[in-house]
Amino acid sequence: MTAQLIDGNALSRQLRADVSARVSALKARGITPGLAVILVGDNAASQVYVRNKVKACDDTGMHSVLETWPASLSEAELLARVDALNQDPAIHGILVQLPLPAHIDAQKVIEAIDPAKDVDGFHIASAGALMTGMRGFWPCTPYGCMKMLESIGYDLKGKHAVVIGRSNIVGKPMALMLLQQNATVTICHSATKDLKAMTLQADVIVAAVGKRNVLTADMVKPGAVVLDVGMNRNDEGKLCGDVDFDGVREVASHITPVPGGVGPMTITMLMVNTLESAERT
Ligand code: NAP
Repeated sequence: MTAQLIDGNALSRQLRADVSARVSALKARGITPGLAVILVGDNAASQVYVRNKVKACDDTGMHSVLETWPASLSEAELLARVDALNQDPAIHGILVQLPLPAHIDAQKVIEAIDPAKDVDGFHIASAGALMTGMRGFWPCTPYGCMKMLESIGYDLKGKHAVVIGRSNIVGKPMALMLLQQNATVTICHSATKDLKAMTLQADVIVAAVGKRNVLTADMVKPGAVVLDVGMNRNDEGKLCGDVDFDGVREVASHITPVPGGVGPMTITMLMVNTLESAERT
């Protein structure tokens, strides 16, 4: 069996068209959804990410503000900027691009964001809302994965989902979202003794590790759905995921490519969260 691709670019185009339409409807009521992105320092990858986020705002008709600050910005100064944006009625979402310079406590900055504007979903209030099934913002990457499963009409009820990785931004929220949809969820991590024994039981596998070839064909049950969150470089310097794509696509029923899979969905869900924040005002 050769797996069907879940195309993150195509799904993003669909979802962003819906976002654009809803933005237009809000604008007709006098509200323009606004996203503020703060970048501290000159991390090259972060510069690309923030540019893409601002461009996605432009493309969907949203207002965006990009604040770039030198790495020397103090924690107090950054907290003051977050506070100003919390008070700004033109801003519905605030995103502080990570990583921050070492002298700034990233968690303290995230906790300073008004939870009503926490469109990255990293605030402890957002994490608590997800855990308890209350309304809040879902972190964009796992949220995008859920949309990808929805796009293929996948019913998670009673299915066994294995999440590889337990970070606060991907693995843990991913597991909670799958659980909320009535999957039976196993979370694997670096201390998991026999990863293959776990993944072979899975109907759905989400790989969110950051290491190439963590998941190979012999670790996948025929017909499983495989979502690859990882972003790595291969020997030729090309972007690749955590999954041995060529091998696993011969076993899985559906698979996300890298690039063109989960990556574009992350920014799309940031647009969705920002729009929904504005719709709540
Ligand atoms: P992270 O914070 O480094 O977490 C990685 C997780 O993988 C940890 O929980 C770690 O376990 C686990 N792990 C490490 N080696 C393992 C192994 N051999 N077997 C099983 N588990 C192992 O990374 P992250 O922020 O979650 O990101 C994961 C990957 O997704 C990265 O490549 C990142 O670039 C990518 N990413 C992509 C997007 C996107 O939009 N596509 C967004 C976010 C992240 P321990 O907890 O035990 O250390």
